[in-house]
Amino acid sequence: MSLHPIAAFDRIGEENAFAVLARATELAAQGRDIINLGIGQPDFSTPDHVVEAAIKALRDGHHGYTPAPGIAPLREGVAADVHRRTGASISPDQVLIVPGGKVTMYMAILMFGEPGVDILYPDPGFPIYRSMIEFTGANPVPIPIREENGFAFSADETLSLITPRTRLIIINSPANPTGGVSPKAEIDKLAAGLERYPDIAILSDEIYGQMTYDGREHVSLLSYPALRERLILLDGWSKTYAMTGWRLGFSLWPKPLLEAARKLAVNSYSCVNAPTQWAGLAALTGPQACVSEMVAEFAKRRRLIIDGLNKLPGVSAIEPYGAFYAFPNIKATGWQAKPLARALLEEAGVATIGGPDFGIHGEGYLRLSYANSQDNITQALTRMGEFLSARKVA
Ligand code: PLP
Repeated sequence: MSLHPIAAFDRIGEENAFAVLARATELAAQGRDIINLGIGQPDFSTPDHVVEAAIKALRDGHHGYTPAPGIAPLREGVAADVHRRTGASISPDQVLIVPGGKVTMYMAILMFGEPGVDILYPDPGFPIYRSMIEFTGANPVPIPIREENGFAFSADETLSLITPRTRLIIINSPANPTGGVSPKAEIDKLAAGLERYPDIAILSDEIYGQMTYDGREHVSLLSYPALRERLILLDGWSKTYAMTGWRLGFSLWPKPLLEAARKLAVNSYSCVNAPTQWAGLAALTGPQACVSEMVAEFAKRRRLIIDGLNKLPGVSAIEPYGAFYAFPNIKATGWQAKPLARALLEEAGVATIGGPDFGIHGEGYLRLSYANSQDNITQALTRMGEFLSARKVA
């Protein structure tokens, strides 16, 4: 007998970044010197006061289940933090504490995806959007994210893709993998256009919302009251407080959807582990200098990597105004993106991700995470330069 999950599992995808990480680790274990610009997580430690809060919670006996939506002080803390950052008034009742930002997209796509409906998502974009849309049987409709548009959403193009079958639109700014930040004027236009479609739900993935550079402002979709009744906001602690391994995120839901999300929590993970929730509260209510210091360091690395990439043969990189990714155009090297990423890892010892791992519109680009030291970034750029000079494609 051969065991087989239902057919939907033939359509589920994954994140190639984890496969690249595994290969990079394998090569390093063989003694190779690998610089990892593939992985999308801060290379900082979680701030001490946050770690201490988790230890204290364990010592204080927070060992049991918590309410499925999260402990009350944390839900209140999230509402206060969102108000501080965006000015939007949120009821703690709308907040769901989840084990990582990813869980919010999982829930939202499960809620709206089924055969016969369209779900719009950014391409290139976080690969799990498309994977989960396909899993549900819904039709994935890519919203092209274009270099000539500064890797911002085009309001006109996004709105032009809406059909009577559209149920959910996924927006992500600041964006993975491009670092693009959609400017206020474009988001204003998009929000105004979406007012014409009151039955379409919106998932706004703002997990990089506190990571912008050169004074570029992050505009939260929470700033548009007309969208609030159908807006699902995805955010969390992974990037802002260097907490990827803790698995902690939060989402804001319109009231009727929160009940559905809470039931999904009860039917799967029950609640986020208690000490992590207390750590999350310490992160929100404690000193915020850890965030600005990390962003200031990323800003220096961003300058280094963008200037360096633009000096490599056949490579050009526009300014990414958010997150911690560069998305250089490599078309003039003559290489296809995935073979180039593979060769850079195997031959030059630099891990990057090929743009097509983020969707069809990612061909011709590489994603480089600059969550690595300035020395390593400099060394990686040298290796890439040597490789590209030596391995010209006719
Ligand atoms: N959304 C985007 C755009 C991301 O890049 C990531 C992680 O890389 C996530 C969500 C998921 O974050 P988490 O690790 O909290 O699940």
